[in-house]
Amino acid sequence: MKKYLYGVDLGGTTVKFGLFSFEGNIIENFEIKTNTSDEGIAILPDIAKAILENMEKNNIIQNEVNGIGIGVPGPVSSGVVNRCVNLGWGIVDVKNDLEKLTGINVSVSNDANVAGLGELWQGGGLGYSNLVFFTLGTGVGGAVVVDNKVIDGHAGAGGELGHAPLMDVPYLCNCGKTGCLETVASATGVVRVAKDYLTHTDEPSVLRILEHISAKDVFDAAKANDAIGLKTVEYFGKYLGYICAVVAQTNDPEAFVFGGGVSKAGQIILEVVEKYFNQYAFYALRGKTQFKLATLGNDAGIFGSAYLAKQL
Ligand SMILES: [Zn+2]
Repeated sequence: MKKYLYGVDLGGTTVKFGLFSFEGNIIENFEIKTNTSDEGIAILPDIAKAILENMEKNNIIQNEVNGIGIGVPGPVSSGVVNRCVNLGWGIVDVKNDLEKLTGINVSVSNDANVAGLGELWQGGGLGYSNLVFFTLGTGVGGAVVVDNKVIDGHAGAGGELGHAPLMDVPYLCNCGKTGCLETVASATGVVRVAKDYLTHTDEPSVLRILEHISAKDVFDAAKANDAIGLKTVEYFGKYLGYICAVVAQTNDPEAFVFGGGVSKAGQIILEVVEKYFNQYAFYALRGKTQFKLATLGNDAGIFGSAYLAKQL
């Protein structure tokens, strides 16, 4: 009988694991260091060893494990990863290799996609089957989930919403393009926009006296009705709300869910994004789409990958 799921969140410094019941209760968390030497050749054998040891410790036999789900920091298509700079990987057939090492079925997706799936299963998107997830951190990641399935896409770039293009945004993105959503909606993006307003206006602002400005400072300033804080939050909401409206036109999700460090600003984010969404979206979508905060934090990855394992 299939009683267990393993969820794996593979990052550049640590690999996090969760042992889950088939129903989705977390039984145990553990983690190992990511060994990125020699182009990350030891990573999958290390993951297999950690899982097999955990099974032995808990007296779990192979037949009781429905599968291993894994989220990796790169584009994934049909279980194959196409370059993970953080891991030193080129093209790696994660599904096949990990199945050979463990004898257990494996499902693979991109780390942000997996986080979105986790939020749908047990987090801020609980109860929905269709959602769009944004992780607003140092960069911006995303996930599109349709009928409980995450969309990896043809080239593995499905849900890469941080690189959704904006026509009149002048900032250069790390990916080489100009005007990606990430350049204005990530933590670094919010600070960049605020600094631009500070440089190009004389308006008084509490942000002017700070030596280092964080995204939290900007949202706190806006909550205190600071002019530059408010302008920056409007700019952030306008572009994020616009991209939500564009994305909604393809999959008409029940909800948008926002996680990552920037989302800690809370309700102010939902309000400003929803305001602009309702301005840009087709009338049939307005007022029908929910805006929610993520709730799983750093555990979203292991939850989502366990859900991938459940779907095998
Ligand atoms: Zn980009």
